[in-house]
Amino acid sequence: MAAEVLAGAGVAVVVFERMPSPGRKLLRAGRGGLNLTHSEPLTDLLDRYGPARDRLAPAIEAFDPTALRAWCAGLGLDTMVGSSGRVFPIGLRAAPLLRAWLRRLEALGVELRPGHRWEGWTSQGALLVTDPAGTTSAVEADAVVLALGGASWSRLGSDGAWVEPIAAAGIAVAPLRPANCGFVVPWSATFRDRFAGVPLKDVVLSHAGTSARGDAVVTAEGLEGGAVYAMSRPLREALEAGRPATLQIDLRPDQTIAELAARLSRRRPKDSRATALRRGAHLHPVDIGLLREVTGNRLPEDPQDVARLIKAIGVTPTATQPLDRAISTAGGIALDEVDDAFMLRRRPGTFVAGEMLDWEAPTGGYLLQATISSAVAAANGALSWIKGTGAGG
Ligand SMILES: Cc1cc2nc3c(=O)[nH]c(=O)nc-3n(C[C@H](O)[C@H](O)[C@H](O)COP(=O)(O)OP(=O)(O)OC[C@H]3O[C@@H](n4cnc5c(N)ncnc54)[C@H](O)[C@@H]3O)c2cc1C
Repeated sequence: MAAEVLAGAGVAVVVFERMPSPGRKLLRAGRGGLNLTHSEPLTDLLDRYGPARDRLAPAIEAFDPTALRAWCAGLGLDTMVGSSGRVFPIGLRAAPLLRAWLRRLEALGVELRPGHRWEGWTSQGALLVTDPAGTTSAVEADAVVLALGGASWSRLGSDGAWVEPIAAAGIAVAPLRPANCGFVVPWSATFRDRFAGVPLKDVVLSHAGTSARGDAVVTAEGLEGGAVYAMSRPLREALEAGRPATLQIDLRPDQTIAELAARLSRRRPKDSRATALRRGAHLHPVDIGLLREVTGNRLPEDPQDVARLIKAIGVTPTATQPLDRAISTAGGIALDEVDDAFMLRRRPGTFVAGEMLDWEAPTGGYLLQATISSAVAAANGALSWIKGTGAGG
């Protein structure tokens, strides 16, 4: 996006991409339909960025969800709003978007150099770039936009190796940590073997005053899925602070304890425990398995106690899943290190965009929105820088 803005303004642009082809993470995001942004009111959307809200707000206001959708339509892909307010390209695929985008960049004269890795700076401040043959050369540029991503799904390209040269330049980097990630829960072998891969459907997860509704998937290692990702920030912060990261799971969010208890007390004498739970509370085998798991297979007898448990099963993750498996990355270049145009204060003329910066947001289109908006802002900053220094491009 930064290349598009700069080339559109007549600047000669070269993109160095370490992978053999660009946009691999974007293509992967397309498997989930490519949730580009969210349709909620802008102030609600901005709130999703937590402590980074105020720093990201000007960029997102300048290139907001409406502008993002118009840009997408300009590439020939109209967008639609899904039932949850999330915005997707019609067709729910990233490949046509990426193809059209690369065609546009080519038409604008952007030179793409795949297989080229940025390694840092020479002592004179030129870029160190290693080509596919392994030769490292110094590259001069009037302005640079770094958009090297976070450190999740490294096989798609963003491996976080940039932290080393950036930190060596004295630029503060908050440790890269998993965001929108799964968690490790030490399940018993019985529960794990029987239920790994099975979703807990439409549950409410809560921790320390925050809650999220959706699906959570039991995995061999623990829990993942949309509702878990939504809780990942408070859970990760609890683990980081050494506090118990206990997650309360409400298996029946639309029923009260009293309603559930009343239904459960109508158990027919010949019904087994599992049948009574299935009939009385519409629980699935995985739900019943979880109740047994957390009680050491000693389910309470009193319907009121069972109902209470169904509404608040306590599960305590012991760790986040590894960063490489997370949807996105928390941490990155400290926002104090960049000015309002995302220019590195310690490297004038070098701008930063996307997940490299220290912000995080839930899933819902907020990641691509902030990435793309920050790239537009960084490119506009680079443009002013080039004009201000009288450089040619
Ligand atoms: C499975 C999955 C699904 C997702 N789905 C969504 C979604 O639906 N909606 C949403 O908003 N977000 C989604 N995301 C997150 C979103 O894809 C990222 O937030 C976004 O791609 C970040 O953009 P970026 O440009 O900062 O980094 P990236 O997209 O990671 O791009 C960084 C690029 O820099 C290259 N690079 C890295 N280091 C170097 C180097 N040293 N030299 C040269 N090149 C280098 C990489 O190869 C890569 O191409 C998803 C992520 C994953 C993993």
